[in-house]
Amino acid sequence: MNNRDLLQVAQEFGSPVYVYDSEKIISQYQRLTSAFKKVPKLRLNYAVKALSNLNILKLMNSLGSGLDTVSIQEVKLGILAGFKPEDIIYTPNGVSLQEIEEVAQLGVQINIDNLSVLEQFGAKHPHIPVCIRINPHVMAGGNSNISVGHIDSKFGISVHQMPHLLRIVENTNMLVNGIHMHTGSDILDIEVFLYASEILFKAAKQFKSLEFIDFGSGFKVPYKEGDIETNVEELGKKLSKRFNEFCEEYGRELTLAFEPGKFLVSEAGHFLVNVNVVKQTTSTVFAGVDSGFNHLIRPMLYGSNHEITNISNPKGRERFYSVVGYICETDTFASNRRISEISEGDILCFKNAGAYCFTMSSNYNSRYRPAEVLWHEGKAHLIQKRETFDDLIKNQVDAQVNFSSKELV
Ligand SMILES: *Cc1c(COP(=O)(O)O)cnc(C)c1O
Repeated sequence: MNNRDLLQVAQEFGSPVYVYDSEKIISQYQRLTSAFKKVPKLRLNYAVKALSNLNILKLMNSLGSGLDTVSIQEVKLGILAGFKPEDIIYTPNGVSLQEIEEVAQLGVQINIDNLSVLEQFGAKHPHIPVCIRINPHVMAGGNSNISVGHIDSKFGISVHQMPHLLRIVENTNMLVNGIHMHTGSDILDIEVFLYASEILFKAAKQFKSLEFIDFGSGFKVPYKEGDIETNVEELGKKLSKRFNEFCEEYGRELTLAFEPGKFLVSEAGHFLVNVNVVKQTTSTVFAGVDSGFNHLIRPMLYGSNHEITNISNPKGRERFYSVVGYICETDTFASNRRISEISEGDILCFKNAGAYCFTMSSNYNSRYRPAEVLWHEGKAHLIQKRETFDDLIKNQVDAQVNFSSKELV
């Protein structure tokens, strides 16, 4: 998509609006599969929580992807989008046994991440195959908010608890068909990932009836110029070789699974906003836009750096701006950022707005969530309507409480 296409979308659908370029999603999917082409059985399960619009899920289905889900609602979205239950894996954390049982009834692959639920589930349903989420305790990436494999993490069953885990499996006679890790977003170093994989291989040897090993995700995509990006080609080369060797040792051809979210959809997304006001203060120039952390919270939540361009004036002289939202709280998208000269009414474009952007949006300040548009083969398709006032109040109940005014003394 070029600037002209983006401006056309903003004109047609208004702002703020999320735009997703299907071509980029498809090429990322193909890039990852071809990096692992030497593995006979490869499975990509797209992580729904990154971007859960049904049209995106249908696109993933058409590519041959499965789904990684974290709630029964995501499972239902997947089924609604046409996925077969057996092509969905459910990897929740901290949910009730009841929800896990409900999902298992649908025929979805269950992935269990704590010993308490494993024991209860195994005792009640020894014949339903489960995958086990191991925590290898490896720090992948620097930010502790998005690294979930370390020692204090709430995710997974510690690899140090293997003896207890094995005892539960033996006592309940349950069927373990997969083993899983997800060390968190942003793998900076392939060697770290390979190191964690060795821990997983070692754990895998303890189970006799495995069908797959799931290496989770955490592929890093560049957010700004100079950012490191996971070299999936190199990872593919090294891990494929090691995986195939492991299958020989194990004595069976296993499926190698990944659960990429960000890698598949982040760069495909653009978030377009309108500049409401340019405000010069004593210390900076603010560009105030018709959005805020109600629509895009990642910069404030994780400090993530989304590149911002002025697509209305791409060739203008560059100046320094603080780009802020219209929420009545501090909602700074970027400070001291070089952007080509901004005038009121210009459209700014946030890059890398495909993953964890719209799905984290809210109605804070009683604002509507934005529209979403899918750009496919040169055409814009509306895939989520902008909300209206009715959406804001549809679940509110007028309780008809009698608030008769009290007399003031
Ligand atoms: C969120 C999540 C993913 C996707 O992570 P990305 O960094 O977006 O690729 C994969 N697996 C599990 C279990 C997750 O919770």
